[in-house]
Amino acid sequence: MGKVTGFLEIDRQDRKYKPAADRIRHYDEFVIPLSEEATRGQASRCMDCGIPFCHNGCPVNNQIPDWNDLVYHGDWRRALENLHSTNNFPEFTGRICPAPCEASCTLNLQDQPVTIKSIECAIIDRGFREGWVVPLRPGHKTGRKIAIVGSGPAGLAAAQQLARVGHDVHVYEKLAKAGGLLRYGIPDFKMEKHLIDRRVEQMTAEGVVFHYNVNVGVDLSAGELVDSHDAVILAGGAEKPRDLPIPGRELDGVHFAMDFLAQQNRRVSGEPQLRNEPILATGKHVIVIGGGDTGSDCIGTSVRHRALSVTQLEIMPRPPEKENKLLTWPDWPLKLRTSSSHEEGALRDFSVLTKEFVGQNGAVTGLRCIRVDDQMQEVPDSSFTIQADLVLLAMGFVSPVRDGLLEKIDVNLDARGNVAADTRAYISSRDKVFACGDMRRGQSLVVWAIREGRQCAASVDAFLTGDTDLPR
Ligand SMILES: Cc1cc2nc3c(=O)[nH]c(=O)nc-3n(C[C@H](O)[C@H](O)[C@H](O)COP(=O)(O)OP(=O)(O)OC[C@H]3O[C@@H](n4cnc5c(N)ncnc54)[C@H](O)[C@@H]3O)c2cc1C
Ligand code: SF4
Repeated sequence: MGKVTGFLEIDRQDRKYKPAADRIRHYDEFVIPLSEEATRGQASRCMDCGIPFCHNGCPVNNQIPDWNDLVYHGDWRRALENLHSTNNFPEFTGRICPAPCEASCTLNLQDQPVTIKSIECAIIDRGFREGWVVPLRPGHKTGRKIAIVGSGPAGLAAAQQLARVGHDVHVYEKLAKAGGLLRYGIPDFKMEKHLIDRRVEQMTAEGVVFHYNVNVGVDLSAGELVDSHDAVILAGGAEKPRDLPIPGRELDGVHFAMDFLAQQNRRVSGEPQLRNEPILATGKHVIVIGGGDTGSDCIGTSVRHRALSVTQLEIMPRPPEKENKLLTWPDWPLKLRTSSSHEEGALRDFSVLTKEFVGQNGAVTGLRCIRVDDQMQEVPDSSFTIQADLVLLAMGFVSPVRDGLLEKIDVNLDARGNVAADTRAYISSRDKVFACGDMRRGQSLVVWAIREGRQCAASVDAFLTGDTDLPR
């Protein structure tokens, strides 16, 4: 344990954001890192609890008390080694993880959790600055060939683990660059994309071969892929968005959130667009339907486009501002969460059901809505209309898409339409075909995708060699 009295002497202090008035003028990240001294002070607040709930709250089981202690003592290099032993990409999670670890921290019982996510980010950012993050090439090659479909965080984590134990790893990605939703979904202002390029460079030096613009099941036969590899991992994500099939859905100006967000990320990177018609919020009244990360990202992007107004509608009731700790801790509590994008200027309304999109001359002009009670029953005489020139549907994702890969590869799906595989073996119903990440578990988080990629890699390694040294 670092400083025995740290948590008594030092208040929680987290990274701040650049002012909203400045940051909405660009798409760069806007989080201001703490100084080294302040970060070490924050790490010293860790009490190294006998049972570290944070370690269990973190889906990759980061050994948080251990690296807090190392940071407090200024041993950044060993902190980095420790962090990398459980998490391939802490620079991603240190920026965009919702930090369930902090909800589990014992100091969260008093709303003062250790700033775990910021410390994680400081460790890896320093590691890159110091040149400590280098390719780890395998000492020997196994001669086994593995195909991974999809280069999101699940596919990348699996690829890195398997290449490091000597397998020949080939990642097939239908888009032009690696990263999955990290690159084409999550806006640059939350995570800049050079961070992905840097890892791809490291992984390429470790022996991973990336094949871009290959849609498996369309450009390359799924059967051929299985036949020509010793194992195949399906890590294609859960890309089918939840629709809102109500009257007026066909009107111009009603779009899936991902069509809007991916376009903006391509605009920032200068990549060609996949569709010609630009979706812009500039000068419009924007309605975002659905809460969650995707809805929040639509708000931040609309604000940067200079929308006239942005309103987010949520069908669920407004959650409490503060959770009842003794009922929820150390689990992830349901409570009102206000993101940096919300703070940039969005109205939020809860318990609202959208009944119809209304429009003129084929374009959306508004939404007819009604209020619902806690049981989702419509409240009599509560209907109202809201003006809208652009509607973004951000109600989550239903499952992986069926067309192409899943239609052709002949694996069983579970009741929700995800690839059926358990979390011990990660193997599908088809011999030597494995699955992980959102394609197996449904829409989730980056940190869960990394966990599944790592665990799936251990399973594949054991399948191919009879044993594995890879951690689960
Ligand atoms: C807008 C948005 C914001 C989000 N924000 C956050 C956040 O802040 N924090 C967080 O933790 N999580 C967030 N998430 C969730 C997170 O991004 C996902 O849970 C995570 O990326 C899943 O990783 P994955 O590797 O399983 O799949 P994905 O990231 O979806 O990657 C799948 C990849 O497979 C490729 N692919 C699919 N089919 C084929 C095929 N047939 N052939 C070749 N390639 C194929 C796709 O092109 C894609 O690159 C967000 C999601 C969205 C949509
Ligand atoms: S990966 Fe997420 S849950 Fe784990 S330590 Fe980092 S911020 Fe916390």
